Amino acid sequence: MVVVMNLKAGPEQINAVRQRLEKFGFEIHIIRGVNRLVIGAVGDRRVISSLGLEAMPGVEKIVPIMKPYKLVSREFKGQNSLIKVKNVVIGGDDVVVIAGPCAVESREQLLTAARMVRQAGAVILRGGAFKPRTSPYSFQGMEEDGLKLLAEASAETGLVTVTEVIDEASLELALEYVDMIQIGARNMQNFRLLRSVGRSGKPVLLKRGLSATIEEWLMAAEYVVSEGNENVVLCERGIRTFEIATRNTLDLSAVPVVKGQSHLPVIVDPSHATGERRLVAPMARAAVAAGADGLLIEVHPEPDKALSDGPQSLTPEDFSSLMAELRKIAPAVGRRIG
Ligand code: PEP
Ligand code: MN
Repeated sequence: MVVVMNLKAGPEQINAVRQRLEKFGFEIHIIRGVNRLVIGAVGDRRVISSLGLEAMPGVEKIVPIMKPYKLVSREFKGQNSLIKVKNVVIGGDDVVVIAGPCAVESREQLLTAARMVRQAGAVILRGGAFKPRTSPYSFQGMEEDGLKLLAEASAETGLVTVTEVIDEASLELALEYVDMIQIGARNMQNFRLLRSVGRSGKPVLLKRGLSATIEEWLMAAEYVVSEGNENVVLCERGIRTFEIATRNTLDLSAVPVVKGQSHLPVIVDPSHATGERRLVAPMARAAVAAGADGLLIEVHPEPDKALSDGPQSLTPEDFSSLMAELRKIAPAVGRRIG
């Protein structure tokens, strides 16, 4: 439930409500909006009516949250969340572009990619150092050496960085080197890992699971936020359907659906959604038009030599032309792009 305090409520009144809720076992989250303060309370719904909250001084109204996810719901917080990754803000007017190779493969590969995507207007550099591959015989990533290269590329270009973690050990390492942690589609329901990234406090890029409903995806985000980490960005990356003409099916309607149900930003990954280079640009354009807060695009200096996801990776030249197209689309939907 959300307790909306009235404009004149003072600290003692806020505290009294808080104490009453805590006494009955509710977990409290205070949100200070521009105009008013609301107290989010997660706990046993059945006791709410017996608490007499409406009658307490300073309380304007009580709004129950019927959804299974609470902290990430729109009912809990009406304003869009702005997630800061160092100097980059996701969820505001800017459409934030994350770009880089699927995997970090070498110093030269990553630094070349970083310079080129930055030049084209990307603001976050991606690169996997721990790759959750379908086959155990495929390239598994450079691990800590890859993370070091991400840190070096960030220092040189000023780009902030995101990388995927696959377990607690990779999380601990990644926290030392990068600015944002990615939870991949295959780990979206790894609840212990979600709790750990929640405790870390670092911004999290949470991909939608291969077969996850939007509700399950938002429940995964709730795991992170319930540990006190509100810095979650959702990423639609395509879901499994009967259609096999594309690697996955991009669920673009997830963008407005999520925006209706949650205050968290949502970005789109047209690379994994389609699996095919030729389809990345049209889906990226559509995502911006649909209101996505950002894009995640795989770019490789030499896609034909990529150790993973080459067929869906753009060349730096293709990426640069795509950015030029997006710069025309963004203003038409009231947004800006780097
Ligand atoms: C990736 O971003 O490289 C990746 C493996 O994505 P996903 O988890 O969406 O498959
Ligand atoms: Mn990939």
